[in-house]
Amino acid sequence: ATATRALFMLFGATGDLAKRKLYPSIFNLYKKGYVDNDHFALIGTGRREWSDEKFREVILDSVSANADSEEQAKAFASHFYYMSHDVTNPEHYDALSDYANKLDQQYDIEGNRIFYISMAPNFFGTVAKNLKAHNCLSDNGGFNRLIIEKPFGRDYDTAEELNNALAKSFNENQVYRIDHYLGKEMVQNIIALRFGNPLIEGIWNNKYIDNIQVTLAEKLGVEERAGYYDGSGALRDMVQNHTMQMLTILAMEDPISFKDVDIRREKIRALRSMHVYTEDEARQNFVRGQYGANGDQRDYRHEDNVPNDSITETYVAGKVLFENKRWKNVPFYIRTGKMLTDKFTRIDVVFKKPLVDIFASAKGTESELNNNVLTLFVDPVNKIILRLNGKQAGQGMEMQPLDLTHTQSDEEKAATPEPYERLIHDAILGNATNFASWDEVSRAWEFADVIRHVWDTDKPDFPNYTPGSMGPDAADELLARDGRAWVFNS
Ligand code: NAD
Repeated sequence: ATATRALFMLFGATGDLAKRKLYPSIFNLYKKGYVDNDHFALIGTGRREWSDEKFREVILDSVSANADSEEQAKAFASHFYYMSHDVTNPEHYDALSDYANKLDQQYDIEGNRIFYISMAPNFFGTVAKNLKAHNCLSDNGGFNRLIIEKPFGRDYDTAEELNNALAKSFNENQVYRIDHYLGKEMVQNIIALRFGNPLIEGIWNNKYIDNIQVTLAEKLGVEERAGYYDGSGALRDMVQNHTMQMLTILAMEDPISFKDVDIRREKIRALRSMHVYTEDEARQNFVRGQYGANGDQRDYRHEDNVPNDSITETYVAGKVLFENKRWKNVPFYIRTGKMLTDKFTRIDVVFKKPLVDIFASAKGTESELNNNVLTLFVDPVNKIILRLNGKQAGQGMEMQPLDLTHTQSDEEKAATPEPYERLIHDAILGNATNFASWDEVSRAWEFADVIRHVWDTDKPDFPNYTPGSMGPDAADELLARDGRAWVFNS
């Protein structure tokens, strides 16, 4: 492992994400030696008046369960420093800058800095601006990289405004926009499977693929995020970012290499060939839903912190088209929602049926052959199933589905880092493959904004689906109209 020297500056260090995800991830990188154990420090900031001791207690609390020994956890925590800081007060950044320089010297970090903004998005621009204005970036040859959390804007205009604000302090190649779906093992495996196998790459086109289905299902409702969620909705929360990123990786052309610049180039090309709907087309090709009540489960409009006339969608299904040679006439169907049958993410690649069914024609019957389906299970288990047609054992020639299944082993599972661990590691290596670039984010907003505008204008007929189902009937009709059906539907 290459150990990287790094000073982290974390904004939002007292927050939920930091404690649940970021500290355990940085600890794992420390344990594995990816973060140089002697040459690293973290300055955490938040509004609370914490001491370094208090901060370190929180760190110990968050990493101890995963430590080999108490000494190890304590040694790790000793690199953590806390500053109470109001990010809207410019003067505070002078103190931060001094502190960063001091720790840089103390730990001989050589100017490598990672700024991580884990705060509400309205602060992203302010922090970035002040970091630069108050010399918090190093200037002695080390790297300066900015990691920012989602959401990146709430439409094209706000995203552009935010991006312009960031661009005043950081170049595009210094900005790492988190989309934690890109840190998932099976999402990365799409690239491995597509470009490592002629068997797959050879048929990855409209000659053999009938349609592709991407499902991001959640079992829970809005829980304590209701206040935030009601101002966002499923289109912004799940489609514009995670779903679009997965679609892009499925649809892109062969990158000339696995380098981040090469992959980004192809992702952007794919997104540019994606058809952005007109408003009328959006009405026809996108479906929204909001969950109703079911037994003890309240309907969405009666959840805490949700207005009882809310038109926020908790479900989206849609058809996405890429207008290029590879994908002409191959619909990509997507769906995501809350309160569905279960929590899972899966991709179903549905292949065309044989042009001629010699088994049926010999018997003079209708074909009973199924479509071949390659299913990539992204969550909660990493699994791949290739569904073929095979022969039923016995005399005669009766056909039946035959599944080739690969399930991740326990060892593979243990070797699989959490998305945040992998992404922070990528950022310290300067590898932007698994982060969303501005061109990608902005194109995805252009696509989503049309749908959003239609939905903000037209009055929905909510609620329209039952908790514990796979969404509204209209989502099934969307495919039925094309003579198709969701592969997973129960
Ligand atoms: P949080 O509310 O738990 O924490 C917010 C942090 O910001 C706290 O440390 C607080 O002290 C600090 N803060 C707020 N105002 C401040 C100010 N004026 N000056 C200085 N510090 C201030 O938030 P969170 O859940 O940790 O989320 C952080 C970011 O991560 C958000 O962008 C969120 O969208 C994103 N995110 C969170 C999760 C999650 O599971 N929590 C998941 C994905 C993305």
